[in-house]
Amino acid sequence: MTRDQAVSNSLVAIHDRGDGLYNQVLVIINGVVNFDEVAGYCTQVVGAGSGGSDTFLNLAQYQKDSIEYNEARLSGRDSEVACLQDAWDWLTTGLTGTPHSVAVVVVGNIGPCIPCQRRIKAFRDAIVHRFGADVQVEVEVIYDQDDASAWDTERSNIPTTYGYRDLPDSSLSDGTPVWRYQVT
Ligand SMILES: [Zn+2]
Repeated sequence: MTRDQAVSNSLVAIHDRGDGLYNQVLVIINGVVNFDEVAGYCTQVVGAGSGGSDTFLNLAQYQKDSIEYNEARLSGRDSEVACLQDAWDWLTTGLTGTPHSVAVVVVGNIGPCIPCQRRIKAFRDAIVHRFGADVQVEVEVIYDQDDASAWDTERSNIPTTYGYRDLPDSSLSDGTPVWRYQVT
């Protein structure tokens, strides 16, 4: 299976869940697309409200009741939170040996909100820190919301944006249109 096929399968599984925001995280080690939990890992399709640890965004860094604080708090049970934690747990306790490359694809039907974009960035930084400079690390976000790569909206009266702005049109190898964002 190619990486694009895995992403395409993931989008099908996500859309099978119906309405709502869903994510699945694929972890590809040494370029081999195999999710047997030894050679690589794939999380469940996770919906909003899943909870779990919010390792990648520390509320304490923000002034209480600032916009950043409130949006971080409001998003603390977003689907990305549980997915990133699950992938991180596998990378740190399930993966054996030292890989030469770690590629993570965060797949979703809607792009990450601003605080989840911060979480995904912190997740990438944590992988780089964990594995060191000799390991090639790549984190990509792929989603297929309609019309535009970024949607402006409000959550509990606080403005936020789902997805990354101004991404070029892209598609998977089977023609599925997607937005792709390379996290740096
Ligand atoms: Zn979010």
